[in-house]
Amino acid sequence: MTDCIFCKIISGDIPSNKVYEDEYTVAFLDANPNAPGHTLVVPKRHVVNIFDTDEETLSRTMAAIRKIAPAVRDGVDAHGVHVNSNHGTAAGQVVFHLHFHIIPRHERSEFSFWPKDERAAVDAKTIAEQIRSKLS
Ligand code: AMP
Ligand code: ZN
Repeated sequence: MTDCIFCKIISGDIPSNKVYEDEYTVAFLDANPNAPGHTLVVPKRHVVNIFDTDEETLSRTMAAIRKIAPAVRDGVDAHGVHVNSNHGTAAGQVVFHLHFHIIPRHERSEFSFWPKDERAAVDAKTIAEQIRSKLS
């Protein structure tokens, strides 16, 4: 994809702090890190997000994440990592090439999760049925 910034990083047309590359994936530091060592893992194949990804691309990317996550953790002497991914504008996706964030964490106090919404817990039986119906 000619106008995709991550495709340009993969091809080397724009620079990045690359930490890993194999036949299917590339990993590089996020330009606006949430913590030192914040790394992005992307498939070389241009897919937008989880909704258009073939299973092989997704599993190759996950296999790379499994390899890279301990190196990110240990590379900055962290104790854990977040593996996060945003899919769709409503979920905060800004770059429309599938990617996973690996964000090192040293202590629980470094971050806050999104707030729970009590209203989201109502009607759980109906919502579960709605989701099941889309899977059948
Ligand atoms: P998302 O909201 O999941 O789509 O996040 C996209 C991420 O890509 C953000 O964390 C950006 O800081 C990061 N990003 C955007 N452009 C670049 C770039 N040229 N090099 C490295 N990271 C980038
Ligand atoms: Zn792309």
